[in-house]
Amino acid sequence: MNVIIIRYSEIHLKGRNRGYFESVLIKNIKTVLSGYEYTFTKNTARYTITNYSQEQEAEIIDILSAVFGISSISIAKQVDTDMEQIASACISLSHTSGTFKVETNRADKTYELNSQEISAKIGGSILASNPKLRVDVHNPDWIIYIDVRENKKTFCYREAIKCVNGMPVGTGGKGVLLLSGGIDSPVAGYMMAKRGMSLRALHFHSYPYTSALAKEKVITLAKLMKKYCINLTIDIVNVADIQTAIHNSCREDYMITILRRFMMRIAQRVADRIDASVLITGESLGQVASQTVESLVSTSSVTDKLILRPLIGFDKEEIIAIAKRIGTFDTSIQPFEDCCTVFLPKSPVIHPKLSDVVRIESALDIDTLVEQSLSNIETIIL
Ligand code: ATP
Ligand code: MG
Repeated sequence: MNVIIIRYSEIHLKGRNRGYFESVLIKNIKTVLSGYEYTFTKNTARYTITNYSQEQEAEIIDILSAVFGISSISIAKQVDTDMEQIASACISLSHTSGTFKVETNRADKTYELNSQEISAKIGGSILASNPKLRVDVHNPDWIIYIDVRENKKTFCYREAIKCVNGMPVGTGGKGVLLLSGGIDSPVAGYMMAKRGMSLRALHFHSYPYTSALAKEKVITLAKLMKKYCINLTIDIVNVADIQTAIHNSCREDYMITILRRFMMRIAQRVADRIDASVLITGESLGQVASQTVESLVSTSSVTDKLILRPLIGFDKEEIIAIAKRIGTFDTSIQPFEDCCTVFLPKSPVIHPKLSDVVRIESALDIDTLVEQSLSNIETIIL
């Protein structure tokens, strides 16, 4: 019988909070596996999944390997604690060439052989099954692990599949992620979820100035992120009227600066509704005109929420590498019109002075515009 062994990471360092971190991790594992039949067992320092369909094994591994808090997974063979059964399981796991060693952990202290004796005996059986193999205890090409459990059952397995590590989502507070259709913001969300933050995405579109496809694209992106960001939902807000108002009453070169401030005000209100204290953006210092220090100061000053910009010190190439690894890149690069491209100024202000921004936008009825856009917010459960 195959067993999936799940090991968790940093959370075991959390001392007195360990019980809480574990309970969140277990809840998240059960959430992502909700469509599957299986038995979940909590052991010391690891969990096991048994009684699942073999056909679904690869899918289950793929799903679990995106759950923050899990450090590695192994697919093990479970046999009775009996030398013949252990030997044949280990032989079936062996590579056909190279050097190896056997490592045994014996939780069952009543078993007649100790861990060194078990390793030596099983190592001998593996060698006898294939004369091309060699033992190398210092620098082996591959390792067979044997885990003798207290219940007279033993797990045998080969390598551990490295997973995403991080902290269980839900243990790091709540944040609203400003999610555009670009490359950066999905990566920013991924990085905060990795530290345990539970996210709600917020997207601004400008229909009918931008097409309905732009909205579909961001929903696709959010769905891709859901494997990491458990329970992610997305709110969608139309800012076309706000943009028209800015266009009609404010200097052209301040269009984006002022629009960004509206985005933050709306995001703050969405965050209040869900009791979140953090706003997250994909900004990176100097990447574009709206991401200079002065621009960041100008967007920050309209909210008292903590704004986290996890990509602030990253180069575009570094962000792209992460986007590729987490699977959002191909969707992000599909062409679409962002709301920021509507009424795009020919030369946007690069170093906006806060006092100028405040004076220029005072031509607008800010509160009413924010209220109006919030009144037709659309929430999508992914
Ligand atoms: P991205 O690749 O994330 O779109 P970008 O390099 O295109 O980033 P900007 O378009 O200037 O940069 O946006 C900076 C940040 O502002 C984004 O990372 C995102 O957090 C937020 N943002 C921009 N446009 C939108 C939008 N339409 N909806 C929600 N958030 C947005
Ligand atoms: Mg963008």
